[in-house]
Amino acid sequence: MVEAVDKRKRRVRHGRVKERARILVVGGGYVGMYTALRLQRRLKRELDRGEVEITVVTPDPYMTYQPFLPEAAAGAISPRHVVVPLRRVLDRCRVVIGEATAVDHAKRTATISTLATEEEGTGGERLTYDELVLAPGSVSRTLPVPGLAEHGIGFKTVEEAIGLRNHVIEQMDIASSTRDPAIRDAALTFVFVGGGFAGVEALGELEDMARYAARYYHNVQPEDMKWILVEASDRILPEVGEEMGRYTVTELRRRNIDVRLRTRLDSCADRVAALSDGARFPTRTVVWTAGVKPHPVLAATDLPRNGRGRLKCTAELTIEGTTHAWAAGDAAAVPDVTAGKPGGECAPNAQHAVRQARVLGDNIVHALRGEPLTTYTHKYVGSVASLGLHKGVAHVYGRKLKGYPAWFMHRAYHLSRVPTFNRKARVLAEWSLAGLFKREIVSLGSLEHPRAEFELAAGGKPSQDPPHNPKGSS
Ligand SMILES: Cc1cc2nc3c(=O)[nH]c(=O)nc-3n(C[C@H](O)[C@H](O)[C@H](O)COP(=O)(O)OP(=O)(O)OC[C@H]3O[C@@H](n4cnc5c(N)ncnc54)[C@H](O)[C@@H]3O)c2cc1C
Repeated sequence: MVEAVDKRKRRVRHGRVKERARILVVGGGYVGMYTALRLQRRLKRELDRGEVEITVVTPDPYMTYQPFLPEAAAGAISPRHVVVPLRRVLDRCRVVIGEATAVDHAKRTATISTLATEEEGTGGERLTYDELVLAPGSVSRTLPVPGLAEHGIGFKTVEEAIGLRNHVIEQMDIASSTRDPAIRDAALTFVFVGGGFAGVEALGELEDMARYAARYYHNVQPEDMKWILVEASDRILPEVGEEMGRYTVTELRRRNIDVRLRTRLDSCADRVAALSDGARFPTRTVVWTAGVKPHPVLAATDLPRNGRGRLKCTAELTIEGTTHAWAAGDAAAVPDVTAGKPGGECAPNAQHAVRQARVLGDNIVHALRGEPLTTYTHKYVGSVASLGLHKGVAHVYGRKLKGYPAWFMHRAYHLSRVPTFNRKARVLAEWSLAGLFKREIVSLGSLEHPRAEFELAAGGKPSQDPPHNPKGSS
């Protein structure tokens, strides 16, 4: 990295950037958004003088605050409030809605595919940059389980969270109206695979929501539903420690949730979840949250990756063996300098992503100004998890909390963390109103097919295809 600083020194004269620096940020999630925010704040004058240009390329015009997805699925927060509009917060950056499909760092170019390039059939636009921030995050880590690709759903996006909420309520409607016990049984069986944050929180919140919704169905009781959590290892929620993980298992089982440890999903072909312990559950709901892997676009770059596919990074958040290339977050293997032993890397979570983004933004500014870089160092402080309304578990700064206090801490922590004052105010208002009124139990699944009604009226056959831009519905 010394080389990067030295090269940059030539660009700086009397505290000014001599040459124009084009910074390309790939990804508009935690790392992408917070890095760009930091850069636009710290390089305000340079941006005004046209010495620096920041371009953010990301498939969606918003950053998703993923820890709120389980609450969005439960209906406690509206989908629009778990996302942050990038054009508004990154008002000094150029936001391009599209995907980087390849990066040739040797030539300092990235190939970008947008809706326009797809329509024009031009095969992608080439962007040239001087500094690259690669932060495409991660995707669900799937296994070749028969039937999974056809019937499974992940839990990483706001579309998946809202789709799952609508689906669960729809299954309750089906169960309530069918006379066929096999259909009813399958509709009321919900299988979640993976006992990490996403799986446990999503299951905890949705079960809680469905239990509440059942009081409005004359013939669906909470006891009629089967909620199953399948985890391959012998514990769940490793993020909150062993003791709190055990408490979570006990708490979920007390709620009649069938937690199966040391068990794998072998197949979900023909809509039957077949588990490694021999159990078979006919079901229409298989939620796959069994971990994440770095985004596959990293394979289309000339940048070094480790055995697990993450970008090899230094503790200064540069990509190893390169200059002018930076990375952080789920896609990056950043050395954990607090681990006390070599080889440890920071876990893929928001706690690291946010803090790394700040250091990354500062280091780019340092590099442009010819100053020394800062080392990223953060000791994991623990975690909070919600298990439904007024239920939670936490292990933070050595303190262990359960039930209501943990749930309250979860809300307070995430309210303090969700980006922008605007979002904080809206989320707080929603939570306050929810305390006064009854919970929302409506399914708006038909939003996914907005033309169906008109197609029928016009005499056509309603198609089940989502509209051109399925992200527009919520
Ligand atoms: C349900 C859920 C709950 C969670 N809860 C917690 C929690 O409570 N605490 C915690 O610490 N962590 C939590 N996490 C993990 C945390 O959200 C992630 O670690 C964090 O989002 C990683 O940040 P990132 O910037 O690396 O990736 P992301 O935030 O995922 O951002 C990646 C961005 O890159 C974009 N992108 C992808 N491909 C391309 C491409 N080819 N070109 C351009 N852009 C691209 C994506 O659309 C996305 O906007 C949770 C995750 C989930 C799914």
